[in-house]
Amino acid sequence: MKLLQMLRVTEIFRSIQGESTHAGRPCTFVRLTGCPMRCVWCDSEYTFKGGEHYSIDYVMDQVKAFGCKLVEVTGGEPLAQREAFQLIERLCDEGYEVLIETGGYVSTAGLDQRAKVILDIKCPASGEEPRNDWSNLDRLRPDQDEVKFVIADEGDWLYAKNLIKERALESRTKAILISPAWDQIDLQQLADWISASGLNVRMQLQLHKYIWGPDVKGV
Ligand code: SF4
Repeated sequence: MKLLQMLRVTEIFRSIQGESTHAGRPCTFVRLTGCPMRCVWCDSEYTFKGGEHYSIDYVMDQVKAFGCKLVEVTGGEPLAQREAFQLIERLCDEGYEVLIETGGYVSTAGLDQRAKVILDIKCPASGEEPRNDWSNLDRLRPDQDEVKFVIADEGDWLYAKNLIKERALESRTKAILISPAWDQIDLQQLADWISASGLNVRMQLQLHKYIWGPDVKGV
């Protein structure tokens, strides 16, 4: 029974939130191990293996010690571990503001309604576009959830643009994040496409990578 309450964790650390509308805020990150996807530009491959088995109580103690009211549960793919749903509920019960960064493959059904979802929609150049779980779009809440497109080339941008319109994402989300894949696309070019689109989207850079560098972990 005890094993059911264990999580495989790559790292727990305090930093600033680097993406989303919460960027720049102090935040404790719980990075869970493992991901069923293999995006070609993935910057978190070190989470695919290893990790330590921690009880939810232990994770809660670690989070408390960092003293941030904002907590992000990320990965890897955090929702691939069913115990993550219990952790998220515990965090919400304890009064934390909880962000979930999910890759969009695992269903968000059953997630604590107090948690805020940042849902990736995988574009073609990721190699994982066919694995998007489209039912997740039906669970988006316009007052608190965000979607994120990582853009690696023009095909990705056109894909995102069409999908935003087809699925009426502007009215179904708090924000639509357009994030350049690191070192894959000219930032000014992406900015030009976005500004010319007339869409109510937000270009975002990964703040932590500009502060600490792209390869530093635990920040
Ligand atoms: S979903 Fe996230 S962690 Fe998983 S392979 Fe894609 S980018 Fe990496």
